[in-house]
Amino acid sequence: MKLIAGENSTQDIICSSDGNSCKFLNELEELRNQVSLLTELVRTDALTGLFNFRFFHETILLEMERARRGSQTLSMILLDIDYFKKFNDSWGHELGNQALVLIAKLIKIAIRKLDCACRFGGEEFVILLPNTDLCQAVQVAERLREMIATTPLAVTGRDFIPVTASFGVDEFSMYMSDTTEGFVQRVDSFLYQAKQGGRNTVCHPELIARTETAAVTLEEKDALFNVLHDDSQN
Ligand code: GH3
Ligand code: MG
Ligand code: MG
Repeated sequence: MKLIAGENSTQDIICSSDGNSCKFLNELEELRNQVSLLTELVRTDALTGLFNFRFFHETILLEMERARRGSQTLSMILLDIDYFKKFNDSWGHELGNQALVLIAKLIKIAIRKLDCACRFGGEEFVILLPNTDLCQAVQVAERLREMIATTPLAVTGRDFIPVTASFGVDEFSMYMSDTTEGFVQRVDSFLYQAKQGGRNTVCHPELIARTETAAVTLEEKDALFNVLHDDSQN
């Protein structure tokens, strides 16, 4: 028996020798569905539905390699919920879990299809943004920070509970020699600055110095001005 099936798992399996009467077809179809379900489970965080740390690790290796070989810049956003221990202590672990789910939903809304959002651990999330420079990534982080700060957790029969998060952002390009750990640490150091700076804020390297070394288009300058303008209002 010969199976004809493409890479796409939604494609029908066709048995070329036995046609549709092949007795193994149903079983194969079922096994293929199970493999695709397990593949999904193995890379997904059960609570939030975002990718898990294992998938993040695989993806960052690939994306950094892609950035090293090409001219595309890869950006990373690290996000950590503020005072989440206190949140759990005040409202309980179950509502804490609901806050994590809410933030995951907001992340999904804020990012593009090609971006990769993962639960990094506990109350930390990481977003990889391929083909995105620092300036654009800062705008995404700033938008997400504002969405989180203005979307409190709605609790039936009780008040809305406010949640905020702190952000670190940086970029990786072919001119840099970081390891994956080095890149994560670099972004984490900006997250640390955001915590030290009072939380509910986005920290990143100086935008002007970094973007002026490459040729900056008028559009990028515009975007850059908007980010600087927004920052000064925080
Ligand atoms: P900071 O603003 O400095 O980040 O303070 P924090 O309280 O958020 O940080 P800390 O590391 O002290 O506490 C993190 C808390 O996150 C403690 C832990 O109970 C909670 N947490 C981690 N994972 C989960 C989870 O899956 N569900 C819930 N409800 N809480 C979690
Ligand atoms: Mg933390
Ligand atoms: Mg925290």
